[in-house]
Amino acid sequence: MIISLKETADKLMAANSLILTAHVNPDGDAIGSCLGLKFMLEKLGKKVRVLIDDDLPKFLSVLPGIDTIEKPENESYEADYLVILDASLDRVGSVIEKCKAPRLNIDHHRTNDKKADFLYLDAKRAATCEIIYELGKEMGVEFDINSATSIYTGLATDSGYFRYSNTTPHTMRAAAELMETGIRPEKISEAIETKDFDVVQGMAKALQTIELHADGRVAGLFLDHELTESLDTTEGFIDQVRVIDGVDVAILLKAVEPEACRVSMRSKKTDVAKIAESLGGGGHIRAAGCTIEKPFSQAKTDILKVIEESLAE
Ligand code: 5GP
Ligand code: MN
Repeated sequence: MIISLKETADKLMAANSLILTAHVNPDGDAIGSCLGLKFMLEKLGKKVRVLIDDDLPKFLSVLPGIDTIEKPENESYEADYLVILDASLDRVGSVIEKCKAPRLNIDHHRTNDKKADFLYLDAKRAATCEIIYELGKEMGVEFDINSATSIYTGLATDSGYFRYSNTTPHTMRAAAELMETGIRPEKISEAIETKDFDVVQGMAKALQTIELHADGRVAGLFLDHELTESLDTTEGFIDQVRVIDGVDVAILLKAVEPEACRVSMRSKKTDVAKIAESLGGGGHIRAAGCTIEKPFSQAKTDILKVIEESLAE
């Protein structure tokens, strides 16, 4: 059932205990929205746990409360609601089987599968954290350094630090209001962008695989299984590709297993959410992803073919 922002706030306020979760392969928006909402609900006296069925990226270790996030271990978890943030139900791993509470889904992905018991979806928002900010206002909770740091992190990371086309005056106003708590954007971005020497060396290796296709309108990094295994992270690598002059669609393809490849796409004109959705994934018009259950070279051929057939005029 689709519900309004107010109905979402009412449900959260009426609950006593909540389990919050977000997508596997979590990013700044997934974790920022879980922690931001957790801090606000705790202020309202709720019992809140955050379960994420994946390792947390090191670049988010700056976030307050990140060490309270648990990996689902028990067979079952009880709560009044399972709140699924920044994803549909199919992207939260084992949490969905382990917690049978009614599903309250809060998301900004146009490709949301709408299978939750209750869904608040606003695809105009740059980040799920922008919705969490609105929920804070709706619930009448005052932002503090902890909730503001978490929510700001999601706003900043999903909007490319307020540079991408999903950035709106509302996004900027939300960020401005959060800054009133005393958070320092330069400290947050510096912490998020700081990389180990090995990671920069890994990026140098990955960048060697760069290829141009479709007369320079498509560019990609193609990381075979061996190279993928040697890298700790590929966070931010695709940003080096999307800036190339004349490139519409940027791809990062990595063979995470011998027979499975993860694909990330960014675009200037082409609707990459549609391409990702046609391959079982999803995302946004300018940033989307999917998994192709095929060996590296087959997946590479497939994705290039689909993209070249879908290029916007
Ligand atoms: P990224 O390339 O940064 O992993 O993801 C870009 C956008 O696409 C994000 O909003 C992310 O949530 C979404 N996305 C990435 N991979 C998948 C996927 O496999 N399924 C779905 N539904 N969305 C994805
Ligand atoms: Mn997001």
